[in-house]
Amino acid sequence: KRLVVLGGGESGVGTAILGQKKGYEVFVSDFGAIKQHYKDVLTQYTIPWEDNQHTEALILNADVVMKSPGIPDKAPIVKKLVEKGIPVISEIEFAYPYTDAITIGITGSNGKTTTTMLTYHLLKEGGLNVGLGGNIGKSFAWQVAEENYDCYVLELSSFQLDGIVHYKPHIAIITNISPDHLDRYEYKYENYIASKFRITMNQTEDDYLIYDNDDEAISQWLQNNKINAKPIPFSVTKVLKNGAYLNDKTMEININQEEFMMETAQISLEGKHNLKNAMAATSVAQLMRIRKQTIRESLSNFQGVEHRLEKVLKIQNVQYINDSKATNVNATYFALESMTTPTVWIVGGVDKGNDYTELMALVHEKVKAIICLGVENKKIIDAFGNVVDMMVEVDNMRDAVNTAKHIAEKGDTVLLSPACASFDLFENYEDRGRQFKDAVRNL
Ligand code: ADP
Repeated sequence: KRLVVLGGGESGVGTAILGQKKGYEVFVSDFGAIKQHYKDVLTQYTIPWEDNQHTEALILNADVVMKSPGIPDKAPIVKKLVEKGIPVISEIEFAYPYTDAITIGITGSNGKTTTTMLTYHLLKEGGLNVGLGGNIGKSFAWQVAEENYDCYVLELSSFQLDGIVHYKPHIAIITNISPDHLDRYEYKYENYIASKFRITMNQTEDDYLIYDNDDEAISQWLQNNKINAKPIPFSVTKVLKNGAYLNDKTMEININQEEFMMETAQISLEGKHNLKNAMAATSVAQLMRIRKQTIRESLSNFQGVEHRLEKVLKIQNVQYINDSKATNVNATYFALESMTTPTVWIVGGVDKGNDYTELMALVHEKVKAIICLGVENKKIIDAFGNVVDMMVEVDNMRDAVNTAKHIAEKGDTVLLSPACASFDLFENYEDRGRQFKDAVRNL
């Protein structure tokens, strides 16, 4: 059988290797440039590939096509495949039948990576033979081809979920849902929400769905639709009979009559959003029967993830925090909410149709100055011009950090939490975060 892989990145190359191992005749095609490293790997495995083009004669004769998550459904080649009735699936769908491992699938608009890394940390510290994949690190398919894990923690974007047919995680998490990537969903929020819930569509009553009970979009969807999996809600506003919740200053989790308790002050990650992430990850650890003492230790020694409310340095008693991964308003909301001292806020970039009204009260309460870092700052200035006393526009990271240093006083925080994409001035959010950290270290 013939497998065509569209996209020669991490998930494409992993799928190609797995497909070849399972006896497929494989061809990899990328409309852009394939990175040299991946070209070398494909050549080493003698898998034929092309880049900067799609040769239709070599693609439209496939029995099955794996489409990398970055390629939209509306790409002409994908449309042609669909018209011909050739199945177009995602890496996860292709790879899962080749492993008996338990999989934990994590999706949501924000907090996927943090929750995935934390879950992985808890299970690994708990002694499980566990792999980490999906949108992080080595692709799931590649690991299925070459590693031998008993269980995988997978970060699943909605694009990955759009390409599943039969795959189901044994344990699914939906961290939260807020509007994002609507350009890929005909600008309809309900389509995006439905895409996130695909994570549970094949689950049975033996499986679990862990979700944010405080989230409006999630609650509404669950009112109108039936799920088969056992529900495990978490909440920071309500005490729940079954699930995870906040009881004064204690995180309590009650699953299948098993109780877990831990003071939130002992959890290394800070902020209400991270407490939610911890609730979700700890629920998984409990379902996987990790020892409570190990869970407690692991929650208190988890180092966090780069570019997510990452504490960089304290200089002259000013704390600098890198939250470059906050590429939407909701992520920035939680960053601002977790600030405990007056904040100089560096914000801006490529606006994704942002509505800043939900930040207004927090900015009024916590922010002493705004530094707009971007090519187009008008919307930010219009939104907050009357809310803060000081507003400065800059067009590079060094100026942003130097300006922040001059404004900040002892005890303040300088927070980079852009609420916007990074492509106007930076390669990506990692580049933006690294430039911030370099500029801080050079102060
Ligand atoms: P994702 O992988 O879904 O993009 P990350 O863990 O990388 O999520 O976090 C992205 C941004 O969202 C960061 O700025 C982070 O501080 C913030 N964030 C993390 N968890 C949550 C959450 N549960 N709710 C809202 N924002 C969050």
